[in-house]
Amino acid sequence: MELPYTVPKLTDFSAAELDGAARELLSAVEQEAERVLLGDTVEGVPYDLEWKQRWEEWKVFRDRWISRSNGITTQVNELWLKASPKDAKRAVGQRVNELKVRVEEEVRRTEEWLQRQEQDAQNALIKSGGKSFATYNDALRATEGCDITLPGIRRPIGAEHPVMKTMNEIVGVFRNLGYSVEEGPEIETDYYNFEALNFPPNHPARDTQDTLFIAGQDSKPQRDRLLLRTHTSPVQIRTMQKTKPPIRVVCPGKVHRNDAPDATHSPIFHQVEGLAVDTNITFCDLKGTLDHAMKALFGSSVKTRFYPSFLPFTEPSADVQISCIFCGGKGTRDGAPCRNWKASGWIELLGCGMVDPNVYGFVDYDPAKVSGFAFGMGVERIAILKYGVDDIQLFFQGDVRFLEQFG
Ligand SMILES: [Zn+2]
Repeated sequence: MELPYTVPKLTDFSAAELDGAARELLSAVEQEAERVLLGDTVEGVPYDLEWKQRWEEWKVFRDRWISRSNGITTQVNELWLKASPKDAKRAVGQRVNELKVRVEEEVRRTEEWLQRQEQDAQNALIKSGGKSFATYNDALRATEGCDITLPGIRRPIGAEHPVMKTMNEIVGVFRNLGYSVEEGPEIETDYYNFEALNFPPNHPARDTQDTLFIAGQDSKPQRDRLLLRTHTSPVQIRTMQKTKPPIRVVCPGKVHRNDAPDATHSPIFHQVEGLAVDTNITFCDLKGTLDHAMKALFGSSVKTRFYPSFLPFTEPSADVQISCIFCGGKGTRDGAPCRNWKASGWIELLGCGMVDPNVYGFVDYDPAKVSGFAFGMGVERIAILKYGVDDIQLFFQGDVRFLEQFG
């Protein structure tokens, strides 16, 4: 059997070399699409299982070509565009974009054709009384004569929401560092949201000004009262309760605050928090991890700095700032003061710190034996920076004209 297509490294970036490489890639995607469309009808396999199998094959095909994490179009970006010399970047970039569009069309076309084939097969089965596979298979063969050059019915397949896209990207950075992903309930108890995280009773975050409490809970003890979680930190506690160290975990999810919506506030937003607990984890590990993560998200030239701060469940705590991505941290742009972040050259992006030993008391860890760090970042804030969005509300209004720009 012929080996599956892999993206080659280019020896030069001339038009001729690009032509050849593009031709090879397109012919590979077409051949693979053809194979998915032909499928294998196995005698005696029930039609629903057969179609399940065929859709699985299509998904493998789709992911192999256009999966964001390591699809062939992503690899092309890495191996061709990123590796190209400065003066060829523009031409290579154009070429890579065209290829991406062609491959996506091919994947969509295959999906549409598979849908039509499945529909035809189902109609044939229904027509036959839906009783016999033999009748079904005969009927299916009869549909094989249809004209596959007719245009398909286009169904908009949508695109990943920019917030989800950013969240997945952040999670991906930590997955590559060996972190696993944990999720937890959005309606939490006071205990998990505050008490186990070392929030003192008079901490301002516990105020109704900031937290949305569920009504009718007054008869319960304080620790059992329900609220909409204000951060994803309760997931860290739940993870530590059910797992012994070492732990390396990220907790992505939706959180709620009692904030009136405006350009920079929303009562709903998303966070990715992280937790690492092991023996001998130090602040150096925390700095190295977050410095790497910020470079992975915003580019290798980004610098980070750590500012002393206060968080109830970490000690010491720090705010992490990255060098301004608009002025490169200089504070000036084209001779004028940078309009972003008061020309300071730094952007405050996330909170972090070493897990307060008190927290280990709530989860039966021995603070004398383990140490760890935690961090948390707002997904919308990062999406706003990455995509130059000027109003957080745009993420939640569902306006297709906004969303389709991320497709
Ligand atoms: Zn700036």
